[in-house]
Amino acid sequence: MRQKTVHLTLGLIASFLVVLLILSLLLIQLTTAATTVQTLHGRVIILDPGHGQGNTNIFEGYDEQVRMLALAHRIKPLLEERGATVLMTRPTEEDVILPVRAAMLNRWALEAIRDARQRELEFSESEQGARRVQRDLDEIDRLLAIIQSVIDDPERNAPIYLNFPFDTTYTRAIHPDWRRIFELQNDPLISDNYLVISLHSNATPRPINTALNGVDIFYMSNVRRNNGAYFANYAHERHSFHFANLLIDNIVTTGLNKRGVSPHYFLIIREHNLPAVLVENGFHTNAADRARLQDDAFLDRLAMVYADTISHYFANMDEIPDQVPGRLHDILLDIFGTR
Ligand SMILES: [Zn+2]
Repeated sequence: MRQKTVHLTLGLIASFLVVLLILSLLLIQLTTAATTVQTLHGRVIILDPGHGQGNTNIFEGYDEQVRMLALAHRIKPLLEERGATVLMTRPTEEDVILPVRAAMLNRWALEAIRDARQRELEFSESEQGARRVQRDLDEIDRLLAIIQSVIDDPERNAPIYLNFPFDTTYTRAIHPDWRRIFELQNDPLISDNYLVISLHSNATPRPINTALNGVDIFYMSNVRRNNGAYFANYAHERHSFHFANLLIDNIVTTGLNKRGVSPHYFLIIREHNLPAVLVENGFHTNAADRARLQDDAFLDRLAMVYADTISHYFANMDEIPDQVPGRLHDILLDIFGTR
């Protein structure tokens, strides 16, 4: 009888310990899952897989638009698993022309701002406050209609509202309505939650220099003269610059060489006021870079680098510098040469 009780007690203690072990294992798994899955909840990442069909970035069997679209389609599910919203300016191989892609991301950002204002209106305490928010809403609707006119008829409307085709005399001033769109996008909603990434692979001008290789990342800067004449109040320069540096240092762990992070004024980072980078993921005119970009396993690794860098960026926004350093370097570049 006594023997039995001891056995029973020991058995109870043992089962208790087993249950405890299982529970703690479950807890560990749950917390890890929570930190990896939900880190990007509420963030909006816009992937722009560059040129569509009809462009000529084809070299030695490599097709930039196909491989950059493949990269975007690998990044997208990784971000979505972590709770992000992912928008793509070109979801298929069908070409979407550059000013239309820029207009689309302007529309997405302005629609989000509109939704936020709409909620503000619903919770508005005073009549005066409500009238002010309603005026904002009316203006946003007017600007959304302009953006839509660019999407619907880019041939006619893109040259009116965008610096397109690009004014190489650098004297063109931004259209007042486009400027107003930029001003509205200077909003914490955009700063804290949005990121635009344009995906490319590089080619040297002809005659092709097959030796040139490595990764470049470009961001929109307020410093250079050619930008200054156009707008010069890109609110998220420091966000873009910071993300560009995080990304290039992580990309080079895949074996691609590092060229650098530089200010530039490409349309897809110029014609909106969102945090944005344009990435040249190596040179497809270089045999080693091209072999990597043709390899699906490499694109899988590269996509994971993007996803992890984006997660790190949003989890550590206190690391973003107050100002972009190295301004002198940019100013000298501006005076003595065009990159
Ligand atoms: Zn390209």
